[in-house]
Amino acid sequence: MRQEINIIGAGLAGSEAALQAASRNFPVKLYDMKPNNMSPAHSSSLFAELVCSNSLKAIGESNASGILKSEMSVMGSIVMESAYINRVEAGGALAVDRDNFSAYITDKILNNSNIEFISKTFEEIPAEGIWILATGPLTAGGLYDDIIRRTGSENMYFFDAAAPVVYGESIDMKKAFYASRYGKGGDDYINCPLDEKQYNKLIDFIIKAERTNPHGFEDTRIFEGCMPIEVMAARGPETLRYGPLKPVGLFDPSTGKRPYAVIQLRAENQQGSLYNLVGFQTNLKFTAQKEMLRLIPGLENAEIARFGVMHRNSYVNSPAVLSKTLNLKKEPRIFFAGQLTGVEGYLESAVTGILAGAYAALSLSGKELPELNRKTISGALVNYITDENISNFQPMNSNFGILRGPEEYIQDKKARKEYLAKRSVEEINDFWAKVNEAF
Ligand SMILES: Cc1cc2nc3c(=O)[nH]c(=O)nc-3n(C[C@H](O)[C@H](O)[C@H](O)COP(=O)(O)OP(=O)(O)OC[C@H]3O[C@@H](n4cnc5c(N)ncnc54)[C@H](O)[C@@H]3O)c2cc1C
Repeated sequence: MRQEINIIGAGLAGSEAALQAASRNFPVKLYDMKPNNMSPAHSSSLFAELVCSNSLKAIGESNASGILKSEMSVMGSIVMESAYINRVEAGGALAVDRDNFSAYITDKILNNSNIEFISKTFEEIPAEGIWILATGPLTAGGLYDDIIRRTGSENMYFFDAAAPVVYGESIDMKKAFYASRYGKGGDDYINCPLDEKQYNKLIDFIIKAERTNPHGFEDTRIFEGCMPIEVMAARGPETLRYGPLKPVGLFDPSTGKRPYAVIQLRAENQQGSLYNLVGFQTNLKFTAQKEMLRLIPGLENAEIARFGVMHRNSYVNSPAVLSKTLNLKKEPRIFFAGQLTGVEGYLESAVTGILAGAYAALSLSGKELPELNRKTISGALVNYITDENISNFQPMNSNFGILRGPEEYIQDKKARKEYLAKRSVEEINDFWAKVNEAF
């Protein structure tokens, strides 16, 4: 009799993990607090529930989400299978009939003879056995505290207050300049200078811009350390200029003077392909965030890789606690999957479920666990969330900025993306063949 694999959470990640492990002929126990106990965002008793939008984002090879979809299909994703079967018309996006989408996956799980489903709310991770934690951004009850006990309070986040992240190459360096305040730290920051008129226009826009409707369950308390820019702006027109937009210690080389206000951007990764707007956490609607950037000198044409968000989001400090095979460095029998690992988005959560399911099964086979490299979106995500060089870890979605660039520079953007898409599919096929051979 093979040892069983236990999974807590039958969301997008847990469902993928269960079917992956079961397909390798391991007995799987899949637990969820549903239907007896529901998080404030879940309302269906079905597995793999889409808690908000019914869109799985764009298809096609010219975008990172499209490439991720192809990679997931290679790895036998149930989420992709169900999405294409239960697709509804949505232009260039892959949107689904949410009930049929979840019902299809639930049916596959309940009719799999290797999987037993048990409804149970966990307060802690049991002391023995192989466990995959896939309890999502709203991880309930004592389990949240148990994760803290195992990883350290500094390694578990409760709230996501993130600023927009833009692609480095889309910043206009004719208007922005490299510098650190008072020259301390070299050219660590990109600075976007604003004059008085530009600053006032920006503040006026932020105050009036549409905000995301807060979900009923969200904690309305705002921590001083992660105050959104719209709340700061509403406190008075000068607040931001004395806060994250303060110009002190900075001189614009094009004028030789101190600007009226400055927006600083800090590199998100060593390659400098992604930059976040320092202190610019926001709850503005995504369309408003795009419009807002148009008002900032140097960012008029900036492309957003990840929008700013503010919501309850439990996730571990993966760079500190997880290995590249998604298990705890200190307790390798415990794997993490889904939003809890610090990825963001339906598909990003699902793909880590596929990997955690395969890795957990491989670990029981006593085989070496093959690692994914950054030539695939899946691998770029795993490498990003487990990159020990990243300080200030914040959740990441699929985007071209985390993917390893082409071996030789390709100037044409379209040709570059086509090359990256082709390379990722070759790489994922190689990786998946290695995983299959290992069983
Ligand atoms: C309100 C909200 C809206 C979102 N909207 C979008 C969106 O529109 N698009 C997008 O791409 N992403 C969205 N996300 C982000 C993310 O992609 C989803 O949260 C996604 O569902 C995460 O998948 P998961 O498998 O990690 O967790 P989930 O799908 O949340 O699954 C976790 C499961 O674990 C169970 N569980 C939790 N705690 C316990 C416990 N202690 N014991 C037993 N079971 C437990 C839950 O019942 C649930 O079924 C949203 C997140 C939230 C919170």
